[in-house]
Amino acid sequence: MTNAGITVSWGMKPQDWFAIAEIVERAGVPAMVAFARATIRTTREPVRFATFFLRTGWKGLPPAARAVPSQPAAGPAPHCGHPDCDPVTRTRETEDDRGIRSLTRCPACNPNAQRGHAA
Ligand SMILES: [Zn+2]
Repeated sequence: MTNAGITVSWGMKPQDWFAIAEIVERAGVPAMVAFARATIRTTREPVRFATFFLRTGWKGLPPAARAVPSQPAAGPAPHCGHPDCDPVTRTRETEDDRGIRSLTRCPACNPNAQRGHAA
């Protein structure tokens, strides 16, 4: 989660931990991260607690086998599910050895991904 740029408090009640563990088993972490990123993008207030995601949708995530929804307008390839890969733009935020962050097209699922230089 933190690797995906999401920093939230994981303080929660034991039953919430059990619920999250069950969702991790069922839906998988990539689906949870993708949901969390989409949620952060649409909320006005900063998300401080992981339980926010639990309440707003993690419980409704489908099983991993069906975790990739059909996205007719999003391009030919389904989202790869990589936690660093933005499901909308299909770009990954990477950090080079000088600590400089940059967006690169996801080599796994970006329809415009090419070798060589980006446009
Ligand atoms: Zn991708």
